[in-house]
Amino acid sequence: MTGRSERGAMKRSEVFSHPELPWARKGFRYNNYKFYLEDRFGERVQRVSLEGGFSCPNRDGTRGRGGCNYCNNESFSPAYARRRVSVQEQLEMGKRHLKARFGSHRFLAYFQSYSNTYAELSRLQELYTEALQDPDVTGLCVSTRSDCLPEETVALLGDLAERHYINVEIGIESVYDRSLEWMNRCHSMAETDDAFRRLAQYPRIDLTGHVILGLPLETEDMILDSLRVLNALPLRFLKIHHLQVIENTQLAEDYRREPFALMDYPQYLDLVSRFIAGLRPGIVLQRVFSDSPKQFLIAPKWGKTQTAIIMDLQRYMARRELYQGKFYSPEDESAVVTAAASAAAAVNAAGAETAVSERRPGKETN
Ligand code: SF4
Repeated sequence: MTGRSERGAMKRSEVFSHPELPWARKGFRYNNYKFYLEDRFGERVQRVSLEGGFSCPNRDGTRGRGGCNYCNNESFSPAYARRRVSVQEQLEMGKRHLKARFGSHRFLAYFQSYSNTYAELSRLQELYTEALQDPDVTGLCVSTRSDCLPEETVALLGDLAERHYINVEIGIESVYDRSLEWMNRCHSMAETDDAFRRLAQYPRIDLTGHVILGLPLETEDMILDSLRVLNALPLRFLKIHHLQVIENTQLAEDYRREPFALMDYPQYLDLVSRFIAGLRPGIVLQRVFSDSPKQFLIAPKWGKTQTAIIMDLQRYMARRELYQGKFYSPEDESAVVTAAASAAAAVNAAGAETAVSERRPGKETN
């Protein structure tokens, strides 16, 4: 693209607005989390990552051992979030860091690493209360797995949501059970669906789902088709990641032994743009790509900063006149999500072998 046409594209993207996308502003052609938070709280609010000392049932043998094949919690935990430091001390360090960097004064306490509802109810109450007692903390974000949400925990979160802002994040990762098996997630899509439905009984809880694009058993058609299931979940937010191979993971071992195809940058821009265009307009995007520290990242290495990726995505969507919800149709949603998930799993069971061979052979990006 020439400098001239880039300027043209940016001009078009800057003026983009859509009545169903209140948080698509300043060049973003999808609902952006930053603007949602600003509107909801009336000022910039930052999340402070906290380490609550939790484990994960997929690591301690309750559901599985070794964890998900891509998981290395170290790769996304900031230095101040450390197990042996109290929640209050972590909050102080995190707030100091974010105040200096962004000038923020209000914060969300973000229990991010491992499964942050995987403990006795009394322990959860203690940790969440400690964080919410901080006068600068406006609410909680709690990241967890669908199989770590028994009724009493869901009721605790629902009760807290009556007095505080509460956001619960669940890893969906894929709607296809074959992919979940490939990742060693040790849970099914039906369990994820059930957890979202039970949490949705408390409408004051904002719900986030995570998905990973570019899994080796999924074709582009399968990824775009998964939107029928995702759009029907009671999601307020979605985090979209691309598959990355990270140091000290099972995936890194497998990849080094037998490299497999990962998405290159142009391919990802194209896929994620079309994926966003099929997404329900009411959903707000918290992430649109993965961002792991250089020292952990094995592949794909795109050599792009976060800002460059966001700007490229804005330009790409503007040039093609794409925006969130452009291809969304409420009729595409399945009324019974579990049925859609089962259908998706059936597609996987029937088509996984074909899907693998349909991906570009042996394409590596590092
Ligand atoms: S990604 Fe989450 S569920 Fe999977 S092993 Fe890591 S902490 Fe556990």
